[in-house]
Amino acid sequence: MDLRLNNELISEYHSGSQKARVLTESWVGDNLFCPRCGNDHIQHFENNRPAADFFCPVCNNQYELKSRRGRLGKKVADGAYDTLISRITSNENPDFLFLSYSMDTMRVTDLIMIPKYFFVPEIIEKRAPLPLTARRPGWVGCSIVIEQIPQQGRVNIVSRGIEEDRELVLERVSLSQRLSTENLHARGWLMDILRCVNSVPAEEFSLSDIYRFEGFLFEKHPENNNIRPKIRQQLQLLRDKGVIEFLGMGRYRKVR
Ligand SMILES: [Zn+2]
Repeated sequence: MDLRLNNELISEYHSGSQKARVLTESWVGDNLFCPRCGNDHIQHFENNRPAADFFCPVCNNQYELKSRRGRLGKKVADGAYDTLISRITSNENPDFLFLSYSMDTMRVTDLIMIPKYFFVPEIIEKRAPLPLTARRPGWVGCSIVIEQIPQQGRVNIVSRGIEEDRELVLERVSLSQRLSTENLHARGWLMDILRCVNSVPAEEFSLSDIYRFEGFLFEKHPENNNIRPKIRQQLQLLRDKGVIEFLGMGRYRKVR
């Protein structure tokens, strides 16, 4: 992978957003392998296709690219709130690629892939409607809150200007697949319990370590009055998916 951006491509463009789009899209088309199947490149769709930006000619997987100048940060701005929510809830989401780059060094600095099944409405933050004076008054945009996605769903491809090992990327994407759930409600619960498990620092933990998150979980799922049984059910699901193992007597271990 050549992390340099091709400066020559943008000499004819004036608008900053056009320059950014051309630079980053051409970089992905020239450099990125398919994180799903390992094919050497992914291909750009014809312009103005709403659902995705790239696809893999071998496994057909689709990708949407979000780029940002400077650091990637905790959240990335996206388009219309309703559009993104309806795409997530219809299970027609592509995988997402989040790319950040530096205009000083003209290099890609970070690139993360987030598999589609890690998208739940909770990670989409609604922004304030545009004021009446705006060109599109009342329009509601959104941000994708990357930091709320469990670490298993954030696959680093480039980190702080350094490329990750390709085999490791493919392995992590393939491991993440065990967490895929079609049902959006079930997915929300699974992601929440996964975040609780992740935030316990030790490799081994007990049921009571997870019960500590009861308040947090109740806030997110106020319709559920049986949080503890739900926690146990989701831990079983995480065991079935190979993310944790049961040690007996209410003890668990994270699987590396
Ligand atoms: Zn592929």
